[in-house]
Amino acid sequence: MSSTDPVEQGSHFIHEIIDGELASKKVEGVVTRFPPEPNGYLHIGHAKSICLNFGTALKYGGRCHLRFDDTNPTKEEQEFIDSIMADVRWLGFDWGEHLYFASSYFEQLYAWAEDLIRDGKAYVCDLSADEVRAYRGTLTEPGRPSPYRDRSIEENLDLFRRMRQGEFEDGAKTLRAKIDMASPNLNLRDPALYRIRRAHHPRTGDAWCIYPMYDWAHGQSDAIERITHSLCTLEFENHRPLYDWFLGQIDAPSHPRQIEFARLNLTYTVMSKRVLRRLVEEGFVDGWDDPRMPTIAGLRRRGYTPASIRAFCERIGLSKRESLVDVTLLENAVRDDLNASAPRVMGVLDPIKVVIENWDEDKVEMLEVPYHPDKPEFGSRQVPFTREIFIERDDFMEDPPKKFFRLAPGREVRLRWAYFLKCERVVKDEAGNIVELRCTIDPETKGGAPSDGRKVKGTIHWVSAQDSLEAEVRLYDRLFNEEAPSASDFEKSLNPGSLRTVRARVEKSLSQASGGAHFQFERQGYFFTDPVSSKEGAPVFNRVVPLRDTWAKVAAKSR
Ligand code: ATP
Ligand code: MG
Repeated sequence: MSSTDPVEQGSHFIHEIIDGELASKKVEGVVTRFPPEPNGYLHIGHAKSICLNFGTALKYGGRCHLRFDDTNPTKEEQEFIDSIMADVRWLGFDWGEHLYFASSYFEQLYAWAEDLIRDGKAYVCDLSADEVRAYRGTLTEPGRPSPYRDRSIEENLDLFRRMRQGEFEDGAKTLRAKIDMASPNLNLRDPALYRIRRAHHPRTGDAWCIYPMYDWAHGQSDAIERITHSLCTLEFENHRPLYDWFLGQIDAPSHPRQIEFARLNLTYTVMSKRVLRRLVEEGFVDGWDDPRMPTIAGLRRRGYTPASIRAFCERIGLSKRESLVDVTLLENAVRDDLNASAPRVMGVLDPIKVVIENWDEDKVEMLEVPYHPDKPEFGSRQVPFTREIFIERDDFMEDPPKKFFRLAPGREVRLRWAYFLKCERVVKDEAGNIVELRCTIDPETKGGAPSDGRKVKGTIHWVSAQDSLEAEVRLYDRLFNEEAPSASDFEKSLNPGSLRTVRARVEKSLSQASGGAHFQFERQGYFFTDPVSSKEGAPVFNRVVPLRDTWAKVAAKSR
């Protein structure tokens, strides 16, 4: 499917707008905001919005507010507020002292609603939600006016105050703007401003039993904070006339400009908070920070770095058109980052034992192995070479096809950083399963070619059998096996193989690794010591991403 249009990459239509406004002195500076609703954890789509809002403020030397859009207490929780702040900070952004809550403006919003009533532009309506829908009309038919539309200002004021006092049942009345029931834009057909809902609010407690709707709260909050550019996703394009209408009616301290951009959609990923919540609550995953989740917390626990997520958001650019971005772009971003920063080590995910018949049982040779092929500043460690080692089960084939260049009976490969290894014999159990390989090494080949000029085509990784650490490794695959999983039917496209846990053998040096460290296991990918499951001396590894074919290059270089 289509990814972001390459033509639009590099151009930044929002920054072009701002450049123009600064040049014409329409604005003096830039103030943006990131306005999450605290009803779930942030996901990679939010990261796009965070990078855009905070990045734009940084670019123009302005500021970006973090404002919680906490107007719907039935779905909101303190846990989400805390996680959102932690995630924005982790991504590398700082709102400084500019932390705000829409709920702090409840009193002002209420006062403006009374002003609107006094101006004859809002009324209390007794229609039920279903009736409101029926009266609203459709895209092709105008709506019908509510029978309560012509209540007097006095009656409306009285009823609205009594709504606030808690005289009416939940849902019994709403306050609606009096705009235009025939407007082609359905958002202007007398939208609701307030509904009655007895719900405990994390910040205002039980002070209110009426809560403002998103449209009534959002633009006014922007105006109170003197936001200059209110950047939001395309589904709010049709709300912009309402945003502007409200600000035009009230005595607003400023009139921010709303600009819409296309939200991020990723292949093999569901971003709807409703679905993410169900994945967590119904146990399809292991919590909001499950490393398979597209949440910032999940990506962080998987081993994604803040820099890789920022680079990804930069690379996908900004557009006015909906598109589906290939998830490999995200994977490549973390590969690029970790390629430069992760020390290389060896780990065998599916070990099979190799006995080196011409190596003494108690002989241990310490090999000095660098942590990074082109970064001497990373230093090196000592890797023990012993008579018994483990190699990857699939680096051996008893009956190899033509293109298989790794180990097979009678064949030779290079052991990374060590010797040429030749398979002499295969040992099997009674059932015919391979239990070990009997091999020999060529002592002449340590770190170089033998004098007879013989060459090998494959290089494989290994660890000492007695001097290695057994470790749990979690191999992640995509959570969904469909490119565009449906949000309503997501269970059907869940990938049953999205998590595979193996008992691997890794270099003993890794027993020192604490939670939260990155490594490249040569040939296997980038790994991260799980910050939750790792214990002192017993790291648990998450595979962040497999390597693509970078190994071919490394092997070529070392030959
Ligand atoms: P919901 O409507 O289910 O609550 P939401 O994704 O709109 O979900 P918000 O917390 O309101 O959640 O989002 C905060 C900000 O992040 C909004 O400005 C929204 O436009 C932006 N945002 C949300 N999802 C994406 C996305 N996929 N791509 C880019 N921006 C997004
Ligand atoms: Mg929203």
